[in-house]
Amino acid sequence: MTPSSISAVGIDLGTTFSVVAKIDDRGIPVTLVNAEGDHLTPSVVLFDGEEVVVGKEALKALATEADKVAECSKRDVGCRVFHKVIGGKQYPPDVIEAFILNKLRRDAGRVIGPFTKVVITVPAYFDEVRRKATQDAGYMAGFEVLDIINEPTAAAVAFGYQEGFLNAGGSTQKPQHLLVYDLGGGTFDVTVMEIRGTEFIALATDGDVRLGGYDWDQRLVDIAAEAFFRQHRIDPRNDPVAAGKLWHECEDAKRTLSARNKATVTFDYRGLSARSEIGREQFEEATRDLLDRTRFTTVQTLSAAGLDWPDLDHVLLVGGSTRMPMVRAMLRQLSGKEPNAAVAADEAVAMGAALRAELILAEAEGKPAVFQIKNVNSHSLGVVGTDPQTRRRRNGILIPRNTRIPVTARRTFRTQKDDQRSILVPIVEGESPSADDCQPIGKCSVRHLPTELPAGSPVDVLFHYEPTGRLKVRVIVPGTDRQVTTEIHRENSLSKEHLDGWRQFISGQEPTEYR
Ligand code: ADP
Ligand code: MG
Repeated sequence: MTPSSISAVGIDLGTTFSVVAKIDDRGIPVTLVNAEGDHLTPSVVLFDGEEVVVGKEALKALATEADKVAECSKRDVGCRVFHKVIGGKQYPPDVIEAFILNKLRRDAGRVIGPFTKVVITVPAYFDEVRRKATQDAGYMAGFEVLDIINEPTAAAVAFGYQEGFLNAGGSTQKPQHLLVYDLGGGTFDVTVMEIRGTEFIALATDGDVRLGGYDWDQRLVDIAAEAFFRQHRIDPRNDPVAAGKLWHECEDAKRTLSARNKATVTFDYRGLSARSEIGREQFEEATRDLLDRTRFTTVQTLSAAGLDWPDLDHVLLVGGSTRMPMVRAMLRQLSGKEPNAAVAADEAVAMGAALRAELILAEAEGKPAVFQIKNVNSHSLGVVGTDPQTRRRRNGILIPRNTRIPVTARRTFRTQKDDQRSILVPIVEGESPSADDCQPIGKCSVRHLPTELPAGSPVDVLFHYEPTGRLKVRVIVPGTDRQVTTEIHRENSLSKEHLDGWRQFISGQEPTEYR
């Protein structure tokens, strides 16, 4: 790609690690180092009184001051508040993410100069509420978010770049089918993609926002904690600081088990000590059900894409947890192919986001697009209605999952009384027929309907999924040209005033407070 003159970066905002990439002067995606000189920044925030520390030092603090540390905030994104109270405060998870993004922005600025434009990645499986929260986090960190793109798509783009599909001659290649298996620290994401010419087309996607390397760590924590309990009759898991320290040890042991057949966890607590030796087989046995969950989802997603294993050209490994030999072995056995780890597991996503950012800038400068992304929605979108017989709240699906986006669905509502001026439509995402089992997005309020509409007048509500997976709503009252306003009153979303307040607070902090 020809680099554009304005700067924009791609950010992989991970559950455990975040990465920033940009396109360098030669047009090649490269990851940037942070202030500590590392390419990976732990997505961990320490709130120490007035001081907010993000990254490596915050991660270290987990072993001594766990009660002041927020880790894995991405897992809670979309919830109203982070699951842990920190320093007596309940932070919204997107605010914690904004602190992480702000550190990334400042650190990248040291390398490439001040900039504001960014593309942030999200798991393909993220629902609308989580996507909105991620965009809000970018805003609060002082960014202009150009786009949010799906992590597997970003990885596929980086792969396509590396394999030369994005070059002038690349488009003559025959269509390639790709399965992207992304097992990170906190999330699992699987997507089947087709690369056709310079188009990256998502065919099907699925995943689990609560499954990742962290769960593998916890199994080791259980093994080590039980060993400690057997010896000393004390369970270190009951003390958050001890649990934090033990987790550290176990995460380390897990990495060792990727390279060696056994690892030792030594743990000291209250002057007592226990040492457990864990073999790779024992570890794989203790985590088999977790791996099986990813296997199940992978098989289902391939079939949802209408493909079989022999149709796949590549199985792409993304995410740090794919370094575990059990992951490769499973995918090798399923696909009959050697999984491809050609793109750097930790960096591919950020690099793909940087390519996307560059593309947006280039397009703004009137240059032709070198690649296109075509996406599907990861959750069905529906409106809530009441079953007249059972009086239960039902999910009336309007846009089924894995529909190519952008897409618009129309639903006609009818006014119930004469001169009704407003309609309230609850919107949910999810597959269950029962609305209560779905994720509420919010309520769409249709206001200022024309006066004197007779009861039973039709009101068309258009739900539009944007390529980013974000939802826009429009309303048409047939037979009138009156302007009707609609708004989505979102679940768990910060108000504009709060967002602006946080933006000023977070992005205005003195750089010395960020180490
Ligand atoms: P995320 O995108 O969710 O932040 P990453 O892709 O950076 O996650 O992966 C982080 C996860 O990968 C962590 O759970 C970490 O323990 C795990 N991980 C990193 N290296 C290894 C390794 N060599 N063996 C096993 N797990 C690893
Ligand atoms: Mg990741």
